[in-house]
Amino acid sequence: MKHGVAILGATGSIGKSALDVIERHPDRFRVVALTAHSSVSALVALCARVRPDFAVIADPARESALREGLAAAGLPTECLGGAAALSSAVTAPGVDTVIAAIVGAAGLVPTLAAARAGHRILLANKEAIVCAGGLLMDAVRTGEAQLLPLDSEHSAIHQCLAGTAGTRGGVRRLILTASGGPFRTRTELSEVTPEQACAHPNWVMGRKISVDSATLMNKGLEVIEASWLFGFAPANIDVVVHPQSVVHSMVEFVDGSVLAQLGTPDMRTPLAYALAFPERVASGSDTLDFLALGALTFEAPDYARFPCLRLAYDALRAGPAACVWLNAANEMAVDAFLARRLSFLGIARVIEATLEQAPLQAPHSIDEVLQGDASARRKAGALIERSA
Ligand code: NDP
Repeated sequence: MKHGVAILGATGSIGKSALDVIERHPDRFRVVALTAHSSVSALVALCARVRPDFAVIADPARESALREGLAAAGLPTECLGGAAALSSAVTAPGVDTVIAAIVGAAGLVPTLAAARAGHRILLANKEAIVCAGGLLMDAVRTGEAQLLPLDSEHSAIHQCLAGTAGTRGGVRRLILTASGGPFRTRTELSEVTPEQACAHPNWVMGRKISVDSATLMNKGLEVIEASWLFGFAPANIDVVVHPQSVVHSMVEFVDGSVLAQLGTPDMRTPLAYALAFPERVASGSDTLDFLALGALTFEAPDYARFPCLRLAYDALRAGPAACVWLNAANEMAVDAFLARRLSFLGIARVIEATLEQAPLQAPHSIDEVLQGDASARRKAGALIERSA
């Protein structure tokens, strides 16, 4: 039987890679639903390509444009609009697999809906698990869903832990690798532009995650994600800079063994791994050419030049409320940086000042997470205004 797939964030970088892998295996997968935020014409083009049953545009003001676009293309795809309709896409008839590839906390509610529906969730949307790790993991357990990571680092760890049969006792630490981003060797960061920050040396990605990679907040969010996904304390999760992005992450065991997963930097590999798990299917990625690679190098992250990584560890130690605030402040600061309303160095300053006001009390419901997110956005917004 074919798996019915819903792709949240189909018009983005992960969404496009996901469709590339899915289309290689028409015998295994059928696309049932696609969603986007506001890119109507891109969504219509994808619908013409894969003919899903449902298309959702989260911006309600664009629903009629989507409806007209689908009709003009002669497509029978059912059209829905508004953020609430994202959850309808993941619970639509025929869906059993959800690719969570919305950027930001906006992906949290539909990802939770997928967990409650008992689906297989392929998680790229790290902000969702950073904001509500405990609630999401609970929903996965009670909904009898399955959560598989798409981040290449977490996919690597998932693969390295495969032989541990669920026992974490033999693991000494998780080692997340980081490319170091476009400014790994640049000392002067005060004049950085959005174009420079988005020019990642190894990966082509959406603008928000590209800036997160440049500040190393991406790695910080991934430390929090790893803690929730695999159940390790921050003291057992290390970050190592590995500029070639070939070793995607590693697991060190108490006997001294270290397992690593390697591959070319291509998101279609973790996508194919998660889509077919526990089987293996072709992804379209290139073979790793060891002879052309030469050396693989490793270095320590520079916490002084990239304070966002330290801020993420601090938030993880402080607890779930701080993680909500960290993520919200980061989303606001990155938006402002991309809109040239905040400097590159201002991103960490805004996050640090916002975090100082974060409550200690952990959120107990999704509503409390969303309230915390809104409060943190207000504080961060005011700080950004003041810094302009
Ligand atoms: P993109 O910016 O390329 O795409 C984001 C997608 O989310 C688009 O489809 C966009 O729609 C949609 N979207 C944005 N805002 C909203 C909203 N408020 N409501 C509903 N949909 C929304 O991002 P990426 O594909 O690069 O990243 C997606 C997620 O995957 C992020 O969490 C990122 O950290 C993670 N990730 C990405 C990797 C990569 O290689 N790109 C690697 C590992 C993780 P529209 O086009 O209409 O704006």
